[in-house]
Order: sequence, then C-alpha cells, then structure tokens
Amino acid sequence: MNIVVMKFGGTSVAGTEKINNIAKIVKSEFKNNRLIVVLSAMAGETNKLQSYLDEFKAQNSIESDLVLTSGEQVTIGLLSAALNNIGVRSLPLLGWQVPILTDENYEKAKILQIDKKRIKEYFADYDVIVLAGFQGVNLSGRITSLGRGGSDTTAVAIASAIDAERCDIYTDVDGVFTTDPNIEPNAKKIPKLSYEEMLEMASTGAKVLHTRSVELAMKNNLTLQVLSSLTKKNGTFIIDEKELIEKEIVSGVSYSRNEAKVTISGIPDKPGISAKIFGLMTENNINVDMIVQNISQDGVSANITFTINQKDHDLTKSVIEKSKSTLNYKSLLLDKKVAKVSVIGMGMMSQAGVAEKMFKTLAKNVINILAISTSEIKISVLIDEKHTNIAVKSLHEVYNL
Ligand code: ADP
Ligand code: ASP
Ligand code: MG
Repeated sequence: MNIVVMKFGGTSVAGTEKINNIAKIVKSEFKNNRLIVVLSAMAGETNKLQSYLDEFKAQNSIESDLVLTSGEQVTIGLLSAALNNIGVRSLPLLGWQVPILTDENYEKAKILQIDKKRIKEYFADYDVIVLAGFQGVNLSGRITSLGRGGSDTTAVAIASAIDAERCDIYTDVDGVFTTDPNIEPNAKKIPKLSYEEMLEMASTGAKVLHTRSVELAMKNNLTLQVLSSLTKKNGTFIIDEKELIEKEIVSGVSYSRNEAKVTISGIPDKPGISAKIFGLMTENNINVDMIVQNISQDGVSANITFTINQKDHDLTKSVIEKSKSTLNYKSLLLDKKVAKVSVIGMGMMSQAGVAEKMFKTLAKNVINILAISTSEIKISVLIDEKHTNIAVKSLHEVYNL
C-alpha cells in the first residue's frame, strides 16, 4: 500500500470554497494511493486564538494549547465532510486520537512517538485520513501544540513514521524562493535545495517550512516538496546534498523580525560571567542566538550583547533584573526594533569573499551591523528593523539571485 502525505497550510483552507477546492486536489491524488492529509487552521485563526489567550495571560499551559489547537479541529471536520460528499471515504482525526505522543512542553512540544499501526488499520475502512496538524497529546493526557507553524512538522513526522512514498507541503506560493516573494517580487523559485540550506533558511526566518519539519525530514532522508495549492506547477524539492549537482554559492536570503537584542553593560571582566548569564537563560528555557562580547571603555569591565526571540523579551528582562546583584552589571538595555538578515548557500563553504560582499553591500546602503553570526553555509547580521526590506532586496540583487 502506497501512502502519500499531503499538507495544506492556513491560506489553502481559509474558507469553505477553498476547502472544496482542496477536496478536489485530494481526490485527484487518491487514485493509486492511500492518503494522509494534514491541515492547519484557517489563516488568521490561530493568531485570533492567541490574542484571546493574551488577554488571560495564559501562556505555556494546558489552557493555552487546548485553545491554540482548536482551529485545526474545524478544518479537518469540514474537509472530511467535503471529501465524503464527493465519494471519497474520509476519517478526520485529532492528534490525541492517533495518538501523536509528545513531551510535556506546552507551546513547543516535541513528538516522541506515533502509533503507526492504528493509522494503517484505518485504511481498511477509509481512503483518506484527514489529520489535524500542530497538535499532540502528552503522557498526562493533555493536548499539546508543536509551536507556531508546526503542522509542517506533523506532516513530516507522520510521513516518516509510516514510510510514506512522498510528503507534499502545499502552500500559498509556488515553492521555496530565493527570498520571501512577498517582499521581493524578483525572487525566483528554487527547483532543488539541500536539507542543510533549507534548515538554515527556515531557522533564520523563511517561514515557508517549520524548522523542526526540515530537521526531521533530514534525519529520515524523506524528500519534501513545497508547492502551491493554487497552481499545478512543480514546486521545490528538498533533498540530500549529494543529489545536488550544482551547489550555489548563495541560494537565498532570509530575514526575521522576531528578534530582540539584549545588552548588559559594565559586567566584571572575569571568568564565569558568561556562564552565569547564559546559565540563567537555559534555566528559563530562553533560546539565545547571536552573541557579541567586548571590553568596555574603562578596560576592566565588559559589555555583552545577545539576541533572543521577541516573545521572550519580558521574561529575559525580569530574569536578568532579578539577578542584578549576582551578575553585578551597570545597565541593561533591551531593544525589539532589530531584525536578522541572513545569506545562505552550500557553495559558501569553498568560496571566499561572500561575507565581504555582504558587508560592503550593507555599508553602501548605510546600514549598520549590530551583531554577526556565521555557520559553514550561512552569514547572519543583526540590523535596525527599519532597514530590513532594503537589506534583503540589495543582497538579493548583489548575489544575482
Ligand atoms: P502556510 O499557511 O501554507 O503554512 P506560511 O505562511 O507558513 O504558509 O508560509 C508561506 C509563506 O512563507 C509565504 O507566503 C511567504 O510569504 C513566506 N516566505 C518567507 N520566505 C520565503 C521563501 N524563501 N520562499 C517562499 N516563501 C517564503
Ligand atoms: N495553525 C498553526 C499556526 O498558525 C499551525 C500551522 O499553521 O502550521 O501556527
Ligand atoms: Mg506554515
């Protein structure tokens, strides 16, 4: 039995007309295959639910995940009804009904296990299983969510668990582009991309795929295709690096406005201080990204700057303020008006001058660099948020993308 996994994002299921359209796409795919169709909530729905939760200050809790995951219950029910209406035997399933077992971390739960035996048994009576993305159940029997954008991860996890033939991620653009096509109209669709490049693009802000979905696909060597639910064109294939014939020096430019910069000034310049600061961040489950340390003007104390996700702004501020006496710093400054812009490419590993070109281009546009971080295939810079679009566009141009 061939099983194909198809995932449709929020814009593809936003409204009954679109859901009927998806039902037709699913029916056309169904001929020789059994299908698992993973859905998001309707576009904007999860944001709306988040804003309700904000009013009640419900964060990382049983309640937050119960509410956040409710949008998917609506879309899977409606698509299943639409499929049954056109003669496709369909069963809608929530995460706990599979079950998709996760750890206990609300709002960023990790999948531990999927019961594939039961899923396969359902195919005795049904042609299509319509599965709610973004959700699971923990060992305490509570509903969990996988982090915003997490339905991609549900799709990849289920595809890996049942050894699916393919995993197609349908979205509102034709594939993965050289940069976000919504801010750079000249962006081009990339036909093939390595897992590593896609991982860097996703983790630096290209929200077209959830970062963990790419990690999981890479681990299981599962080919992903990102394609449009509106056109019938081939999309982007995310594959093993070894299968890539040509390695681009720079494949894409990504950006993230979800950053916040933290600067702690006048800390004693002695061993153990960084360990203390970042120990505090770890204890509080706050991810730190870029880090810059320098000696302050007096030569005896130091300043340290690092970036965090904007959603951790308030928590970081209170955690550091509470430890003022042990950290012994002079001042603390947090800034949300920053953005991270990154260039990514496999070919960068063997080519000099990529960073220089990036820095020269930013300088030409009078954009100041606040922090830098690199990997073998990525260079990221932190800049003032107001320069994001011009930075992305000028870098896209200078690398001939
Ligand atoms: P879905 O609801 O289908 O999951 P998302 O909104 O999560 O869709 O992801 C698709 C969006 O990702 C696109 O509309 C686009 O604006 C954005 N995006 C950012 N960077 C890229 C990129 N490099 N290629 C394609 N899309 C990108
Ligand atoms: N509906 C969830 C969100 O908006 C999950 C997803 O779309 O992937 O984050
Ligand atoms: Mg998405």
